[in-house]
Amino acid sequence: MKKIIFTAMAALLLVGCGGKKNALTTPAIDTFDYTVEQFADMQILRYRVPDVEKLSLRQQEMLYYLNEAALQGRDIMFDQNCKYNLPIRQVLEAIYTDENQDKTSADFMALEIYLKRVWVSNGIHHHYAGDKFTPEFSQVFFENAVRKLPNEKLPNEKLPLNGGTVDDLLATLVPVIFDPNILPKRTNQAAGVDLLQTSACNYYDGVTQLEAENFYAKMKNPNDAEPISYGLNSKLVKRNGVVQEDVYKIGGLYSEALEKVVYWLEKAKNVAENDQQRAVIEKLIEFNRTGNLRTFDEYAILWVADTTSTIDFINGFTETYGDPLGMKASWESLVNFKNEEATKRTTIISNNAQWFEDNSPVDKEFKKEEVKGVTAKVITAAILAGDCYPTTPIGINLPNANWIRVAHGSKSVTIENITEAYDQAAIGNGFLEEFAWSQNEIALMDAYKSQTDNLHTDLHECLGHGSGKLLPGVDPDALKAYRAVIEETRADLFGLYFVADPKMVELGLLPNDSAYKAQYYSYFMNGLMTQLTRVELGKNIEQSHMRNRQLITKWVYHKSQTDGDRAVEIRERDGKQFVVINDYKLLQKHLGELLAEIQRIKSTGDYKAAQNIVETYAVKVDLDLHKEILERYAKLNIAPYKGFVNPVYTAQFDKKGNFSGLQIDYTEGYAEQHLRYSRDYSPLTK
Ligand code: ZN
Repeated sequence: MKKIIFTAMAALLLVGCGGKKNALTTPAIDTFDYTVEQFADMQILRYRVPDVEKLSLRQQEMLYYLNEAALQGRDIMFDQNCKYNLPIRQVLEAIYTDENQDKTSADFMALEIYLKRVWVSNGIHHHYAGDKFTPEFSQVFFENAVRKLPNEKLPNEKLPLNGGTVDDLLATLVPVIFDPNILPKRTNQAAGVDLLQTSACNYYDGVTQLEAENFYAKMKNPNDAEPISYGLNSKLVKRNGVVQEDVYKIGGLYSEALEKVVYWLEKAKNVAENDQQRAVIEKLIEFNRTGNLRTFDEYAILWVADTTSTIDFINGFTETYGDPLGMKASWESLVNFKNEEATKRTTIISNNAQWFEDNSPVDKEFKKEEVKGVTAKVITAAILAGDCYPTTPIGINLPNANWIRVAHGSKSVTIENITEAYDQAAIGNGFLEEFAWSQNEIALMDAYKSQTDNLHTDLHECLGHGSGKLLPGVDPDALKAYRAVIEETRADLFGLYFVADPKMVELGLLPNDSAYKAQYYSYFMNGLMTQLTRVELGKNIEQSHMRNRQLITKWVYHKSQTDGDRAVEIRERDGKQFVVINDYKLLQKHLGELLAEIQRIKSTGDYKAAQNIVETYAVKVDLDLHKEILERYAKLNIAPYKGFVNPVYTAQFDKKGNFSGLQIDYTEGYAEQHLRYSRDYSPLTK
């Protein structure tokens, strides 16, 4: 079903003229329509960009150029996820916009849903679960629709089809779309098989896992105190029997897209806020030109040191979740500016980082004597792109290179206008009424959930990940496949433990000593029950963050059972199960006990214990409970995943060509936005 909600926005489009400063206004929360549309398991939202009007003209100009640089990388992400994604997207869009199609047929409408899902996932595999989509339209319909298309709408020689005939095109694409046994998973993590041969992602071509591992093992120098992130910005291919890297750079792989990115970065550089920021952009440009990973590290070090600029951004090959070997980075961009008011909160947290470290419930030998380099801020996202679009994180902590984090610190952000959109869109959807135990919990969450969610994210990102230390000689990779889950568990526990500490009220971060209960109740309700709405019946939990939430809540639940203290229990009422918390303070104690154990596992590199605790608590799902949750959830008609449309920015230039103001429009629809992006920001297909 296609559901588009469109209400006229408040008048936003006052344009600067006659030497007056341009006037932008941000619509108020209660007049803003956060919802765009819903299909399959997705709800598409829009987000406000509050205070963009408070940026200076020069800052607005810079924001505009960085936004353009962000949008130019979109095709890269599609191609990285699977080598057929771009031609498939192009063919589907051509059919979708073709005048000669019967747009009311069931097949056409199913193709529309499929295309919308492809846009969500930057490809044909689910953005979260990684499984290939099953098309609900017939193969015959698809073949006929493709044959009806004019030649110029078909993928051209730039795409991996080499400009063959329509028959060649269909012979290639039909099995990829319709055969469930071909490329079933984007990123295979299941041990025991060749991870590269069984993954659809496009970071390797014709290379076995062993060949790739050997290739990089040879490059690595174990004695390098500043180890390079080998493989981060390249595709590893075997050509004429030789394994070699195709580096992502101007003149290399993805050159057409990176040239455009650099074109806009050059413009942004000229209006940088200060010398430090200019140096950051210059380094990034140099990296895009050379592909030199040592330059990338230099860039990351400069970036981490820039804590004073209002505008900030990520633009490039960053996170490695999509590569089964965890080396190759997907392209993403997030342009943002500092939320000055809310940043006072993270500044308080950062300034007290040592207090938190000293008072954390972990063993003294695993604590840092001196916590350094924690800089944290709350930001307003202005544009989401690449791997951050249209589904996006709410907190980010970079850079990823461990030696840089140790030597230079890291920057951590909480993206508050995105969480605002999540929270506002959820109001009145019936979810809490269905799953919360009583009116008391609902009232608590209505009053404090947003606030404590943000605080939990701050604590997780700016203290949790940075806390604790490894014992001397412990390999940072000792926990292997369990490393990510244990790390997220640790950061979450750090946040959960301290959100209930009286220090929060003392520091003015929470209004009273019961607000934290909103966080505890919603966390346990989610971890023990409602996050199962994102898992298919009969499947285990695979995603790291979901695993860590179940690990924490199940472990504490079992601890409470074995201790017999009933701090948290699951109770049945009217044939439905509910999470009931009887003693919040005891819950905090158990969370502290678990944090101590998780920190011990990390600090000592105890692989066996990591494996045991993850496999016992984090992975398996109770089938009956799962069935019940899915049935209750289905009745609410809520989509478990959210994605976003970006605002549309338009720059104004005066007669001399000088930037004179920015316009922002929030009314663009979801399909409209993607079709526009494919038309205007698709350097790899045109
Ligand atoms: Zn984290």
